[in-house]
Amino acid sequence: MSDYVFPYKDASFLISKLLNFDQACLDAGFEDVNTELADAILEEAGRLGTEVFAPLNEVGDKKGATLEQDGVHETPGFSEAYRQYADNGWAALTAGEEFGGQAMPRVLGAATTEIWYSSCTALSLCPLLTTGAVEALAIHGTDELKSAYLPDMISGNWTGSMCLTEPAAGSDLAAVACKAVPEDDHFLVSGQKIYITWGDHQMTENIIHMVLARLPDAPGGVKGISLFLVPKFLLDENGRPGERNDVYCVGIEHKLGIHGSPTCTLSFGDSGGAIGYLVGQPNQGLKAMFTMMNEARQGVGIQGLGVSERSYQQAVVYAKERLQGTRSDGSRYPIFEFPDVRRMLMLMKSGTEAMRALAYLAAAESDLEHTAKDPEKAHKHALRVGLYTPIVKGWLTEFAQELTYLGTQVHGGMGYVEETGSAQFYRDARIMTIYEGTTGIQGLDLAGRKTLGDNGEALQAWLDEMQTTAEDMSTIEGLAVMADALKKAIERGVQARAFLIENGPKDRNAAGAASVNFMMLMGFLCGGWVMGQSALKATQMLEVGEGDVSFLKAKQITAQFYFEHLLPRTVSYLEMVTSGSESMMALDTEQF
Ligand SMILES: Cc1cc2nc3c(=O)[nH]c(=O)nc-3n(C[C@H](O)[C@H](O)[C@H](O)COP(=O)(O)OP(=O)(O)OC[C@H]3O[C@@H](n4cnc5c(N)ncnc54)[C@H](O)[C@@H]3O)c2cc1C
Repeated sequence: MSDYVFPYKDASFLISKLLNFDQACLDAGFEDVNTELADAILEEAGRLGTEVFAPLNEVGDKKGATLEQDGVHETPGFSEAYRQYADNGWAALTAGEEFGGQAMPRVLGAATTEIWYSSCTALSLCPLLTTGAVEALAIHGTDELKSAYLPDMISGNWTGSMCLTEPAAGSDLAAVACKAVPEDDHFLVSGQKIYITWGDHQMTENIIHMVLARLPDAPGGVKGISLFLVPKFLLDENGRPGERNDVYCVGIEHKLGIHGSPTCTLSFGDSGGAIGYLVGQPNQGLKAMFTMMNEARQGVGIQGLGVSERSYQQAVVYAKERLQGTRSDGSRYPIFEFPDVRRMLMLMKSGTEAMRALAYLAAAESDLEHTAKDPEKAHKHALRVGLYTPIVKGWLTEFAQELTYLGTQVHGGMGYVEETGSAQFYRDARIMTIYEGTTGIQGLDLAGRKTLGDNGEALQAWLDEMQTTAEDMSTIEGLAVMADALKKAIERGVQARAFLIENGPKDRNAAGAASVNFMMLMGFLCGGWVMGQSALKATQMLEVGEGDVSFLKAKQITAQFYFEHLLPRTVSYLEMVTSGSESMMALDTEQF
């Protein structure tokens, strides 16, 4: 397996030039943060990723978590790596200062998150869920709960889990059946949760479960779900973990990938009830949980980026070494020289660069939402974040399937055997389109709530902004062809939006049938928009003699490749969107 190195140049270019980070930090009130600090943070994170996390990736795959008498035991080495991560302050990077966080911009959270996922996805899932739990508690918890739990969760002393899924309640959380009965100052929680990521382990002295359950008099469906905080160990009079709570891991799953991440079945209340505390209002649990899920959904999108980047790096190394061509003089040359291998590597390179730019832009929008003083502005940014979230989750993770597939394809037979590690990236990536809301759910979110929900207004504003990028590009001679291609792709986005708005209300299957294709169309369009912006910046920098010439020229070519080989996919996605639901729904049940 080759060494992993974070692509600093690309990250630094995106942060300083695409996001105009120094100015953005001033605008958002991050007064002490600037590009220089960002570079230093990324370098430090990259070192921990390369030296400490990355060597554990294969170890976690080969020796996953195990369930023992005293609970789940994680992969050897994970605990020490996690300790370094927490001790060095990475868990607290973006959390608010009130409870010990460093309040750094989410853009830096996104960039460092890529490092963790490229280095070791299975281990990095643990902090992802803690970050989501912290966010939900910080926004919806009482002051008492916040001061009791947030400092240790933010520091990484304790981890968090997210307990939604039950055997009968997966995508449809209306079916949640876990119960919570009031008793004194708390609730007794009982029932079973399945597939709980890092639901148990020995890495920290406590685990804080965020659990969806129903109060005794709760209405049916999603309107009757409440959120509870259930610690593994109850806090003693000094606020430290004391007595064991009534929640136990009763099984862990054997899975296709992420073997180092324990996927637990948790049983609550087998001995009378696990003590839990209400977070937010009764029956408003889903709202609180959505805070957590939105955070986690963008995080899962970045997992798709992280694993694709690592797969790409390894494919490049292999392609340069593997000799399969013979020249007329008998000398041999590597597969790297074959156009079709270049096609695969360029798809991977341009795809990951587009994913990275989009993930950073989404995080920057989230920063603007959270720091805006004016409620109207905050609302505007929230609407845009709402559009970004299903695309970052849905498109990045779906695209990661293709890019990690290509990573194994570049390796030929060696990609299919486990030795090279390429197969692990492909296997690890597979879950990413499933958890935190399947691709189907992301598509519905984008087409339904986020587009039909406001008659496509927020989306239209975004498409208009993309048009401005295309106009800017068309003023530069060398980018005129790309500008034209971007305008055509934007027009496809406009047509898809119009189709949904016209057909959604009159055909109940129209939005559902179009949704994933619509989300993918938007993903490839957004990729074109961000690669167009990158090409524009690179060209402007080259014109004035600023920056690393080789990097900037490569960026121009990579953007050109994206426009020629990936942006055209918007044509077929639009065709699929507008073909409607008829043939999809026409066959009778028994005809399948
Ligand atoms: C490794 C792993 C880790 C996980 N970690 C966690 C965790 O930490 N916490 C947690 O709570 N859960 C976790 N999950 C559960 C995960 O979030 C669910 O598996 C996921 O939400 C899908 O639910 P399901 O498996 O019941 O599939 P289903 O909901 O049964 O879906 C099956 C198929 O039907 C489609 N479908 C379902 N409903 C609709 C709809 N309305 N419209 C269109 N299509 C639809 C889906 O897209 C999917 O293709 C994890 C799962 C795994 C495998």
